[in-house]
Amino acid sequence: MRGLCNLHAHTTYADGANTCEEMVLAAARAGFESFGISEHSYVSVEKDELANLTPESAPKFLAEMRGLKEKYADKLAVFAGIELDILGDATTDGFEYIIGSAHFIHKCGEYRFVDDGRDGQRITADRFFGGDFYAFAEEYYETESTVASVTNCDIVGHFDLINKNNEGGRLFDTASPRYRAAAVESMKEILKTQRLFELNTGAMYRIGRTAPYPEPWLLRELLERGGEVILSSDSHAVESIDYMFPEMEALLRSVGFKYRKILTTAGFTDIPLR
Ligand SMILES: [Zn+2]
Ligand SMILES: [Zn+2]
Repeated sequence: MRGLCNLHAHTTYADGANTCEEMVLAAARAGFESFGISEHSYVSVEKDELANLTPESAPKFLAEMRGLKEKYADKLAVFAGIELDILGDATTDGFEYIIGSAHFIHKCGEYRFVDDGRDGQRITADRFFGGDFYAFAEEYYETESTVASVTNCDIVGHFDLINKNNEGGRLFDTASPRYRAAAVESMKEILKTQRLFELNTGAMYRIGRTAPYPEPWLLRELLERGGEVILSSDSHAVESIDYMFPEMEALLRSVGFKYRKILTTAGFTDIPLR
């Protein structure tokens, strides 16, 4: 596959299984042109529960990534990124790109994970939205709509994260007009600030989802509104570093995209989809 690039990956600095060097080596072996690790940002509201970069570990991560960039420069371009949550209160100094993500909603003084397993999502819907998943989705998409303006991201991460545990429509129907209106309004708001969204296969690998983020109908909405796409695997281990990338390229082509983005040492560039 031409122009292999993944910028969404996690390591032992957060909740990944492999070290930065193991991930970079796996990317080199798989023939990647460029590869980035986007470690989770520090989020102080939930700091005890989350395996994220901390103010102490972030400089170590950046120094290690600088070393790997030099060591493997003849094989591939290596970038140090951050997956910055909208609640992330970390500095982004020194990071070469930002993936903006909304992992929480803030409701009635509580922070709730958006994708907290099927049971967790049911509890959130019941406790905070009277069992109405569409109201939960509306709240999520309203939060998500600020992701680019708040994080100043280069890439919008897992846009429809709320759909993670919803294989086969077990929790709600993504064809419902209320769900679609909330998602599209959120996308329109984000596009005022950032056009580049990731097509993320993380949940396909980790929990067997059959659709990526964003779902195909959302990819069509994105294309119609002038959005752009970059492939990402949200990989937490070497095995999934390029999971389903050829299939996702075919999906983009079938939706009508003419190119996808990659990051090179010259910046973001287009890879034509032929
Ligand atoms: Zn994420
Ligand atoms: Zn991630």
